[in-house]
Amino acid sequence: MPVPKKRVGHSDQAHRRANWKAILSQVTNCPHCGVVNRPHCLCTNCGWYKGRVVSEKLHAHHEH
Ligand SMILES: [Zn+2]
Repeated sequence: MPVPKKRVGHSDQAHRRANWKAILSQVTNCPHCGVVNRPHCLCTNCGWYKGRVVSEKLHAHHEH
């Protein structure tokens, strides 16, 4: 049975959670559609990233 080598103390957990929250609070606006996104991630609305549309799947066009 796996046993943790070192238990995480309450202060360690609190520090990790605080860091995580800080990362979540960082937001940027898409220069393409203006929607709020996480920085260094492609846009969740239009797929825009670093000056171009990376993912066109998000548009969900059905061409036959
Ligand atoms: Zn966008």
